[in-house]
Amino acid sequence: MKFEDAEVWFVTGAQLLYGGDAVKAVDGHSNEIVKGLNESGKLPVKIVYKGTVNSSAEVSAVMRAANNDPGCVGIITWMHTFSPAKMWIHGLKDYKKPLLHLHTQFNKEIPWSEIDMDFMNLNQSAHGDREFGHIVSRMRKNRKIVVGYWKDEKVQGHIAVWMRVAVAWADAQDMRIIRFGDNMNNVAVTDGDKVEAEMRLGYHVDYYPIGDLVAVMERFSDKDIDALVAQYEKEYLFAENCKRGTANFKQVREAAREELAIRAFLKEKGAKAFTTNFDALHGMNQLPGLASQRLMADGYGFGAEGDWKTAALVRTFWVMAQGLPGGTSFLEDYTYHFDGERSAILQAHMLEVSPEIASEKPRLEVHPLGIGGKADPARLVFTAHKGNGIAATIVDMGNRFRMIANKVEVIEPLAPLPKLPVASALWIPKPDLETGAAAWLYAGGTHHTAFSYALTSEFVEDYADLADIELVTIDEQTTLPSFKKELRLNEVYYMLNKALR
Ligand code: MN
Repeated sequence: MKFEDAEVWFVTGAQLLYGGDAVKAVDGHSNEIVKGLNESGKLPVKIVYKGTVNSSAEVSAVMRAANNDPGCVGIITWMHTFSPAKMWIHGLKDYKKPLLHLHTQFNKEIPWSEIDMDFMNLNQSAHGDREFGHIVSRMRKNRKIVVGYWKDEKVQGHIAVWMRVAVAWADAQDMRIIRFGDNMNNVAVTDGDKVEAEMRLGYHVDYYPIGDLVAVMERFSDKDIDALVAQYEKEYLFAENCKRGTANFKQVREAAREELAIRAFLKEKGAKAFTTNFDALHGMNQLPGLASQRLMADGYGFGAEGDWKTAALVRTFWVMAQGLPGGTSFLEDYTYHFDGERSAILQAHMLEVSPEIASEKPRLEVHPLGIGGKADPARLVFTAHKGNGIAATIVDMGNRFRMIANKVEVIEPLAPLPKLPVASALWIPKPDLETGAAAWLYAGGTHHTAFSYALTSEFVEDYADLADIELVTIDEQTTLPSFKKELRLNEVYYMLNKALR
């Protein structure tokens, strides 16, 4: 889903107590705010002003319309004057999409020499928004609250984050994930409840036997493959032993055939994400690593070894990050570098890291793969560029999903890695490796993550609020005693949560 296809509705709460002129003024000011926000250039999604609401019937009508409009990804509410909040109850009860409460004020400053009671009655967001906040809290509805003057870039920045998350949320509500093969045998952390995932997170997970994909591979001609390989030659450096005329070139061609087939398969099934499993490749020449790398860069979610939860999150992160610099990828915690002060983790995978995060033009190489018993797979080899980012995962705790996010700093490799035949990223988790890794382990986090340079913990927080799932964030502030306490308190909270609602 693209940002141009989406819109956010702006609804202003008012009432008729101060007369029709007051409502007219509220309407005019709301129009001006919406126009100003749209023209700020800071927001990825267009805002559509839906007028003032002055009664329960009007609130319900706009909320139901928003639910039913596929282009509407969320509503921003604002109370210019005092707006009695009982009128919001029925509408909020029905409302199913993301909600942002913009706690702003039309005027920036108090007009000291002019202010009188008429001005106060019209400009009382401080008053009216508290009444609205109460009813949303009383109804235990999650929402994002943004406080500040609407022309302030920081305020617009928070709205922009929420808009990106709202679009990704809408995208996930019709996300179909295709698993070629099951989860890797015996692996616990990548498994989970697919029914609960669809109810809670929106996406649908299907299985297809690899033979169905093999049948699609057979549809592609030598000419189709030539065309795709020619594209590889334009985009990547080829290792000497993979170039046209060498023995490994046929492996590159087979990789291209697999890419064509997976692309066609996902398109025909309307899928936005997929998983593979190195142990389920009957009838295929090699693990489709190159295809997975390239499809990720085009926005398809990917999870290795049947990891559908991470595949979904990679897709969701990619949608949120559209148009922002940095890149998004599936990654796996592989090997530690302990040096006492700046210990780091080498991130990689067997093959599947997105070239979106590369610091240089990727090299196309062919090497043997120690597991799976197939022919040598093609892959793109590179190192990730420097920068800060977020790595996150969702695990199934049995009675709930827990999202774990870690702020990380990607650094340059401390020395060249001439013998490493895969793409990699070297990062230091916040606040440091020892604390970050311990917290991650206490939380039960996966070895697989969705990673993005473009996102911050605010995106993850907004997403977890929308999904209404547990979130623990590991960052500069994390200490292990407080983190362990948070996990214990969350255990009680989620046990009682259903009873409270
Ligand atoms: Mn893995």
